Amino acid sequence: MATTKKDIRALSKEQLREFFEKQGDKAFRGNQVYEWLWQKGAHSFDDMTNVSIETRQMLEDNFVINHIKVDTMQRSNDGTIKNAVRLHDGLIVESVLIPTKTRTTACVSSQVGCSLDCKFCATARLKRMRNLNPDEIYDQVVAIDNESKLYFKRPLSNIVFMGMGEPLMNYNNVIKAIDKITSEEGLGMSPKRITVSTSGVPKMIKKMADDGVKFNLAISLHSAIDEVRTTIMPFNDNFPLEDLREALEYWYAKTKSKISYEYVVWNGINDTQKDIDALVKFCKYVPCKVNIIEYNPIDDGEFQQASPEALQNYIDCLEKNRIVVNVRRSRGKDIDAACGQLANKS
Ligand code: SF4
Repeated sequence: MATTKKDIRALSKEQLREFFEKQGDKAFRGNQVYEWLWQKGAHSFDDMTNVSIETRQMLEDNFVINHIKVDTMQRSNDGTIKNAVRLHDGLIVESVLIPTKTRTTACVSSQVGCSLDCKFCATARLKRMRNLNPDEIYDQVVAIDNESKLYFKRPLSNIVFMGMGEPLMNYNNVIKAIDKITSEEGLGMSPKRITVSTSGVPKMIKKMADDGVKFNLAISLHSAIDEVRTTIMPFNDNFPLEDLREALEYWYAKTKSKISYEYVVWNGINDTQKDIDALVKFCKYVPCKVNIIEYNPIDDGEFQQASPEALQNYIDCLEKNRIVVNVRRSRGKDIDAACGQLANKS
């Protein structure tokens, strides 16, 4: 009967050490193999040249190494790179490298598809197929780090969890991946260079605060009026803004870390003075900044970017109220790599 071999990268260093001890070998062998898997990026047991052939065969008999594979890589006119990443079971997710003069940012996925149903988002149409494992998230970052070094001669500087999926619906695996990304045995990145962007799951925001996470938090807000937000993000019906507000106050009280609100302004949806006033009011609850993001239509035009005048009105009103506001121009539009466009079309 065929048995399914376990992915060796699901094991912690301690578990690997125990495994070798149970095999009658030295625990130290676990450190060696762990180093091959995480620091040297071994894709096969045969790569582990300081491990005996017998041991490599024994590992081969017991485990697999489920590395991701970059199936296709597209480059945009503006330098943005989009990877279609094939997972060990054949499913595909996408991740994006966004270069600017001073930064190289990786936008990574946390789920295959998404269980939420944001009306403006191409990923929502894929539905959620499964959560990504910690190593599948980590591998996306490593692949982009390598591309950054290759094409831009500098390592990755920032990571945002804004690709496919809702990261807080795959919390444990996202946290494990971030632990690996920030550990010296992984990429040694500062957690302050990592941002987890969520549509806002109140109980998970509180859990993150209790867990003492050190990365940044961004909320896809898009409206501070319940009726409007529920129309564009139906899950708001279950987690209304009052619950979100309470969770964010809890987050700030515990972490003292400012929140970023991601905000797209659409024509005829959230472009009135009433919408702006509601946002200004919401911004007063917890120290924050607002990122106004340029929108990329995904199809028939139900959602269209608001007029420049409407955007300017938002900016003026926020600034008048001493709220920090940045405008994020969209990147990688020509390869469907921009915000809200990831849908495995390549
Ligand atoms: S915007 Fe994010 S949370 Fe909403 S459907 Fe798209 S991927 Fe999921």
